[in-house]
Amino acid sequence: MKAALLIVRILLLVLLPTFPALAADPLPVVERQELRVNLVPDRHLLEGESLVTFAPFAGRVFLNLSSAAAIDRISVAGKGVHYTFSGGALAVDLPKERGNAPATVRIAYRITYGKQVPEHPASSEDPTYGVTGSITPAGVFLGSDAGWYPDPQVLPKYRKVKVTAPAGMEAVTSGKRLERETGKKVFRSVWEEKRPTGELSLSAGPYDIRERQVNGVAIYTYLYPQNARLAKTYLDAAVKYIGMYSKLFGPYPFDKFAAVENFFPTGYGYPSYTLLGSTVIRLPFIVDTSFPHEIAHCWWGNGVRVDYREGNWSEGLVTYLADYLLEEKKSPAAALDYRLRLLSEYASLVKPDRDFPLRHFMGRVDAPSRAVGYGKAAMVFHMVRNRIGDKAFFGALQDVFREKLFKTATWSDFAKAFSRRAGKDLSPFMTQWLVRPGGPHLSFEGVTLRRKGRGWQVSGNIVQQNSRPYDLTLPLRVEGKNASVLEKVPLSGRTSPFRISLLSRPRRVIMDPDAEVFRVLSPEELPPTVNLVKGSGKLALVVTDTCQAEEGTLRDLLQSLGQGAAPVVSEEKPGIRLADYDLLFCGMPRQKNFPLEFPAGIGAAPKQFTLGGDRYSDFYDLLFVVTRHPLAEDRTAALFLPLSRDAADKYALKITHYGKYGYLAFSGGENRRKGTFSPAGNVVEFEEK
Ligand SMILES: [Zn+2]
Repeated sequence: MKAALLIVRILLLVLLPTFPALAADPLPVVERQELRVNLVPDRHLLEGESLVTFAPFAGRVFLNLSSAAAIDRISVAGKGVHYTFSGGALAVDLPKERGNAPATVRIAYRITYGKQVPEHPASSEDPTYGVTGSITPAGVFLGSDAGWYPDPQVLPKYRKVKVTAPAGMEAVTSGKRLERETGKKVFRSVWEEKRPTGELSLSAGPYDIRERQVNGVAIYTYLYPQNARLAKTYLDAAVKYIGMYSKLFGPYPFDKFAAVENFFPTGYGYPSYTLLGSTVIRLPFIVDTSFPHEIAHCWWGNGVRVDYREGNWSEGLVTYLADYLLEEKKSPAAALDYRLRLLSEYASLVKPDRDFPLRHFMGRVDAPSRAVGYGKAAMVFHMVRNRIGDKAFFGALQDVFREKLFKTATWSDFAKAFSRRAGKDLSPFMTQWLVRPGGPHLSFEGVTLRRKGRGWQVSGNIVQQNSRPYDLTLPLRVEGKNASVLEKVPLSGRTSPFRISLLSRPRRVIMDPDAEVFRVLSPEELPPTVNLVKGSGKLALVVTDTCQAEEGTLRDLLQSLGQGAAPVVSEEKPGIRLADYDLLFCGMPRQKNFPLEFPAGIGAAPKQFTLGGDRYSDFYDLLFVVTRHPLAEDRTAALFLPLSRDAADKYALKITHYGKYGYLAFSGGENRRKGTFSPAGNVVEFEEK
C-alpha cells in the first residue's frame, strides 16, 4: 500500500462532506457494483456509468464522487430518481414502492481530469506529487482518491469494471482480467473482483503486455514500449517474491499480479498490482527493493487491510518483511547496517516537535513521518521477533493473515497473535512503543572495572533519561583482547545495574552493539549524514568567496533538503553567531575562522577535492560532505563544493536523495562515490595498564 491511501483517508475526513450521522441506522448492503468507463484522453475526459445494486433498503443512500463530476442521469429500473449532489457527496433516494426488492441505481456521469503531472519534482517525499487523477494521451492515472467512480459507503460484495479507450491505450485495475481485446479503433478490457478490497485505482497507457501463469495466478507486466525489455526481469522477480511470501505468510490472496508502469514517479502497491514510475522502474535496484516491498503489501495492507483507528501498521511491517528481511538474507552485517540506518534516520530526522506516537501514523507525508511510521515500526516488529523467536513470530503472522484476510486488522490484533503463539502477553511491551512518542535515551553511569578472582568484572548502571522508563532488554558486549561476552540486561526502572565477568582484561563495553533495540541514538553515536542537514532544526547556509553557485540554485538546494526557511548569509558578514547554527557552506570556508575537519581520505580546496585517493578538478565535479561543527559540539557542518556553476545546477537537487550518506562525489553527470563515516558508538573504554 502507499501513502496515497493515507491521503485518501485524510481527504475523506477533511475534504469530503460529512454524511448525516447514521450511527443508529445500519448502512445499506451493496450486493454488487458494475462500472463502465470510457476514456477520452484527447479531451482529458472520463465518461462513466455505474450500476450499484443495493440489498433491500428503504430510504436514502450515499456515495462519494469527485466534486468535479457532471451527473447526466440517475435512475432505478429506467425511472429517474431524486438525488442531491454537492461537494462530492451524492445522496440518492431509493424509490419507496420497491418494497423488499434489491434496487440497482444507474448513475451516468462525466469528469474531466486536466491536471498536469510535475515532471521534475524537487522532493519525492510525497509519492503522489499532489496528483490524484490525470487523463492525457501520454497516460492515465486515476488514484483511489480521485473520486473517479461513485463509491458507496459500504464495500460492494462483488465488483466488475469495464474500460474502453482509444486503440493502443491499454487499461489495468484491480481484480482478475476476464477479457481484453483491441479492435481497430477501440481497446476494451473487463476486470472482476469476487472479494473487493478497498477503493479502486485505474491506469492506462500505450502498454506492451507480457504475461505468465504460476500456480493459478496470472502475472503480468504492463510496460511502456521503451521499457518493455525489462518485462522478463520483473516477471521473474514477481514469481520469486510471490513464491517466497506465500511460503512465509500463506497463499497469495489475489487472482493476478501486475507490475504496471506509470508516467510519473510513483511507487504504489494496490490490491493485485503495483504502479512504478518510468524513471523508477529503470533503476537496477528497484526490482529487489521497492518491488518486493509492494508485493509484500498484497498480503499486508491490501490483503489484510489496515484498521486506522490504532494507526497504520502496514508500512512498518512491510519494511520489516521486505526491505529489512532481504538485507538479512544477504548477511548479518547487511542486516545490522540496515537496523543502524533506521536508528540513525530516526535520531537525525525526528526532532521532538516532529515526533508522534506510532498509533497516530496514517502514512508518510515527509521524511520524519517515514522514520517513525516505517523505521520505528519496523524496529518494534524486530524486537517482538527477538523476544518470541522466529517460529512464534512467523506463525503469528500466518494466523493474522488467515483470520483477517479481506478484513481489517489493528496493532492489537498483531499483539494478540504474537502473545498466543508465544504463550506470554506481549501487549504491554508493544503498547509502550505505540502510545508514546520518542524512545529510550540510554547512557552508561559509574562503570568500573576490577579484578575478581582469576578474572575481571565490569559493573555499572544503565540510566534511562526518560520521565517514564521503558521495559526492555538491552544487550551489552564486553570486549577483551581475545574474547568477548554478550549479556542481555533487563531494564525497567530509571537505573538498572549490570555486572559482567570476563577471564581476560576487558578493553571496553559497548551498548547494544548489534542495534537490536529501538532507542534514540545520542549525537556522538550518529554518523554525520545528509539526513542530519535535512533534520536540522536550525540551519544556515553560508556563502564563501569561492562559492560557485547562483543564489537561485542555493535556494533550490535548501528547498529540496526541506530547509526552505533557512537563512542564506555571507561568510564575510554572517550577521548570525555561527556556533548557534548547523551550517551548510557553499565553497570552502577560511580555515582560520572555521577549521572544518574531514575524516581521513577527504581533502577539499576551492578548486579541487580528493576522495579515497582520487583527485577531482573537472568543471563538472562536485563534493558534498557532512561533518562535525568545529565550534559547537552536537552541531553539524556540511560543505557543498561545486567546481563550477553548472556543476552546482546539475547536482544540487540530487543531494537530498542520498540522505543516509555522509559524503558524495559527483562527476561526469553522475554520482561517482558515496559513503558514510562510522559513528563512535555508545562505548566505555578502559585504559590499558
Ligand atoms: Zn509501503
